[in-house]
Amino acid sequence: MKRLRLIVRGIVQGVGFRPFVYKVASSLGLTGWVLNDEEGVKMEIEGDEEKLEGFLRELLSNPPPRAEIEEVEKEELEPIGYSSFEIRESEKSFERSVLISPDIATCEDCLRELFDPQDRRYRYPFINCTNCGPRFTIIKDVPYDRDKTTMASFKMCPDCLSEYHDPWNRRFHAQPNACPRCGPKVFLLDREGKEIQTEDPIREAIRLLQEGKILAVKGLGGFHLACDPFKEEVVWELRRRKWREDKPFALMCKNLEVVKELCFLEDGAERLLLSKERPIVILKRRPSCGIAPSVAPRQNTLGVMLPYTPLHHLLFQDGIRCLVMTSGNVSDEPIAYKDQEALERLSKIADFFLTHNRPIWMRCDDSVLKVFRGKPLFFRRSRGYVPKPIFLKGAKRKVLALGAELKNTFCITRGPYAFLSHHIGDLENYETFRSFEEAIEHFKKLLRVEPELLVHDLHPDYLSTRYALEKDMPRLAIQHHFAHALSCMAEYGLEGPVLGIIMDGTGFGEDATVWGCEFLEVRIDGFVRLGHLQYIEMPGGEKAIKEPWRMGAIYLERAFEGNLMMEHYKELGWDLLKEGVKKGLNAPLCSSMGRLFDAVSSLIGLRDMVNYEGQAAIELEAIADPKAQGDYPFEMQEYVVDPLPIIRAIVRDLEAGVNKGQIAMRFHRTLSKMILKVAQRAREERGLQEVVLSGGCFQNLLLLELTTSLLEGDSFKVYTHHKVPPNDGGLSLGQAYYGSRWEA
Ligand code: ZN
Ligand code: ZN
Ligand code: FE
Repeated sequence: MKRLRLIVRGIVQGVGFRPFVYKVASSLGLTGWVLNDEEGVKMEIEGDEEKLEGFLRELLSNPPPRAEIEEVEKEELEPIGYSSFEIRESEKSFERSVLISPDIATCEDCLRELFDPQDRRYRYPFINCTNCGPRFTIIKDVPYDRDKTTMASFKMCPDCLSEYHDPWNRRFHAQPNACPRCGPKVFLLDREGKEIQTEDPIREAIRLLQEGKILAVKGLGGFHLACDPFKEEVVWELRRRKWREDKPFALMCKNLEVVKELCFLEDGAERLLLSKERPIVILKRRPSCGIAPSVAPRQNTLGVMLPYTPLHHLLFQDGIRCLVMTSGNVSDEPIAYKDQEALERLSKIADFFLTHNRPIWMRCDDSVLKVFRGKPLFFRRSRGYVPKPIFLKGAKRKVLALGAELKNTFCITRGPYAFLSHHIGDLENYETFRSFEEAIEHFKKLLRVEPELLVHDLHPDYLSTRYALEKDMPRLAIQHHFAHALSCMAEYGLEGPVLGIIMDGTGFGEDATVWGCEFLEVRIDGFVRLGHLQYIEMPGGEKAIKEPWRMGAIYLERAFEGNLMMEHYKELGWDLLKEGVKKGLNAPLCSSMGRLFDAVSSLIGLRDMVNYEGQAAIELEAIADPKAQGDYPFEMQEYVVDPLPIIRAIVRDLEAGVNKGQIAMRFHRTLSKMILKVAQRAREERGLQEVVLSGGCFQNLLLLELTTSLLEGDSFKVYTHHKVPPNDGGLSLGQAYYGSRWEA
């Protein structure tokens, strides 16, 4: 006889862990108890040794599907002779803070009923159950009850109510439960907001889409703009009305078969497409897929998702196989989600509105990812994943981390969990900044947590920084690229020292220059800047980000000491700009990798101006010819890399008539070799064996793959992001990790 005391940490609450423990223990004839508390799931199990081992095996190898065990703390105690096994009550205060589920895609059972003519919910666009449906986007407050959701105004009919109260029914305690008699309804409106009288608004919407009309469709976390993706003139018209020049539109496909017709599916893509989170997955497109060029100009990929609400499923009937489904907004504004507001803001874009009367409480954009070695590489972590917590090793403080300026998310910690917010967006937009403030208050309410510490970026002008400075509270500022490294370390519970290789756009440096390609020795409580990409001026400051030719010109100027300048750059106004740089007017020094990508894109004639963040680098990745051999030379002193030899070699290649695709590939390969060399030096001199890759440039799958393979080939242990984005959307997790360990 033995007694074990276990604490299981990880994502183990709100996922059916206690009933699971109860079942396993009882079936083995073990005694004791299990309960939930702040730290995780606690239990004591008593019985003979062999059975205890069987229990542990089952616990670790077969936990409930949504659980993620991070660690199990085990202690052996004297047996005290429990007579049975029981699930113990948790403290009241804890029950109130039970975790809220993300929004979940329509389940198989509900789908079957949706298309069953005998079912009372046949073709009912709001069908849902305990295993699926809206959650995060409709919850106003906790505890999670119907009257605290946007379903409060719908009174359940007797049929729905009896399902709701029946423990054996799939809809037992399903708060958004509804049916055609008692629940929300869809409407079709014209752009003036007048209802179109029709038997079946959804069938009519399908007809309009087939006619080439643009429709605003109300989804889970906001409105989408939908249209036929096979008609170039329709897609182009949507671009024109949305003021969106090049940024790709996402597609929604009827089912996996349609996705396969349009794109190549790598390993893991199918699982992610079909997952209950239903993210947009960026896939390589088939050259002859027939999708209009304007859907994703100059890209060899398409962002694709599968239907995730009953309304979506109903739209993909009567011959519709694929639709553009892009967020309902004008250019840089946040996605529209309130009915009246949507009608006002989108009336110039959409011809018709397919909407309904179940309000959305929290705006939430679709999540976007690529697949890297079978696992997600997030571009945006939002709907479907939020507010699922991330286990934060050793967290001991309640922190509010405020994130960056662009692609903002914030992060709140409670107990061992980090709650990363949904995608907020670019704070410089006033509407977005207001939704940032509102969302912080909402999260504090849902989590019942009052943070004791704020963590913000070092950049004095980020609006997230200003938000922190206005609060009368303890706060910490942390450097941008240190936070990037910590964000990746947080995913794995690493404490360092590790080598952080951060390939990023721009971030405020400790020496007040613009950092962006940083080689850091990182520990959880601090970092040493070993080196970086050699500094160069950004002609015109921030403007250089929108106009890559400026970086092309300055790199060319430096690489050839002023003896070679392209006529093209003179026409764009280089001579004047050069005078400014000479006088030090608005020409901050930067060590940015994003700007080096810009320079190369411009030099090879790919892109002089960008219409969205990262466009030049994205297009450079897209044209890279994987079969091209070779790479370029660079110089390295200590840990400072001089890229000018790369520029000179590229110019020689251009003169020799080497094509763009080959140059792009050689450039990518050069960067991976540069990283390897830095890592080798850091291993020799400082004993660093583990490498963490973070920063926005690692959204580049080619760079990520080349770098990871090269480092692993030389026996480094490489860590890459798979829970949060490597870009600024994941920054707040790193900030939170730091703050959660802070010792005053
Ligand atoms: Zn369901
Ligand atoms: Zn009903
Ligand atoms: Fe960044």
